[in-house]
Amino acid sequence: MVKISIPTLPKAPLLPRSGLSILPIPEAASYLARFLENGKGQTVMLTGAGVSVDSGIRAYRGEKGTYSNPNYKPILYHELVEDSDRGDMFRRRYWARSFLGYPPVRDAQPNPTHIYIAALQHLGLAPKLITQNVDNLHRKAYSLISPNYDKSSILELHGTLAKVHCLKHRHEQTRDVYQEDIARMNPVWDEESKEAERTGQRPRTNPDGDVELHGVDYRSFSVPPCRICEREKLKSSMVKPNVVFFGETITAEVRDASLDLIANSSSLLILGTSLATYSAYRLVKLAVEHKKPILMITTGPTRADPFMGNGLDKMDRVAGDVLGKYLDEAVKTSTGQEVEDVKRYLHTGVVKRPPAVEGPRAEG
Ligand SMILES: [Zn+2]
Repeated sequence: MVKISIPTLPKAPLLPRSGLSILPIPEAASYLARFLENGKGQTVMLTGAGVSVDSGIRAYRGEKGTYSNPNYKPILYHELVEDSDRGDMFRRRYWARSFLGYPPVRDAQPNPTHIYIAALQHLGLAPKLITQNVDNLHRKAYSLISPNYDKSSILELHGTLAKVHCLKHRHEQTRDVYQEDIARMNPVWDEESKEAERTGQRPRTNPDGDVELHGVDYRSFSVPPCRICEREKLKSSMVKPNVVFFGETITAEVRDASLDLIANSSSLLILGTSLATYSAYRLVKLAVEHKKPILMITTGPTRADPFMGNGLDKMDRVAGDVLGKYLDEAVKTSTGQEVEDVKRYLHTGVVKRPPAVEGPRAEG
């Protein structure tokens, strides 16, 4: 862990817990500095959709816990894997929409908040990260600062859109390879996708990487088999992106890894999430039970708000504002290779807000 000292930040005043949200940014950054210092390099971070909004990735849920797109009905896990003609149609629909919806996710770039979070990891202030996001942006950010970063330092609680696997044999492939297979088997759809890229008229992409299409006959779409099953002359089973679907539970392996990270942490820093998913909320509950100090920096109400005053402090603020101020000061007054690595990328994140949510649209 890099020794960080920040004489330039004002001391955070003693405040009632409810007062954290009104701290001016420099005092808020100072509060964060003390929180990380007390964590002694064993602080674990937990992030959600809020940190990816500036990269143009739409949040599932708005501030009141509702879907930010009222018309969005995500495909459910049991529909995707149903072994029937109906399931077959669900899969065609899912992969057709996902084929068109994936390129903007694939091309999304880390925003400043992703860079700040990677910086905290790289400086050893909070080396481990648990994210609910499936957009791969934490990895893109960390690999900018440190191409050989420890891949196990990021746990994707709900998986990643960057990979797919077949259900029976769990052969894993990159999503890019599977996209190529889809394109080759579906030249008409591929043409549609390229046209959308050319004209910039991309259909709106939902956070799990699919799009809404209306009046489309999905029977014209072919779902490619698993490449590895094909090569090994096995009967290919269904191919699924490495993401946890609605109605699907996370694997025991990922669940246990996430619980272990919390149990072995000194404190928990929660950034940009309403903790609407149970798999994330459960981690906060565990941290409270273990009496770990918790600092949450996010806007709007969250599922963990009832823990406030019970070990959990909350700043109702955009996480990146506080992290950015803290890191600006931290790299000014600290030295070492890690600090130099961070300095080089600290202000390189892109900001590309998603388009405003459209009003309700008629189906069909
Ligand atoms: Zn396979």
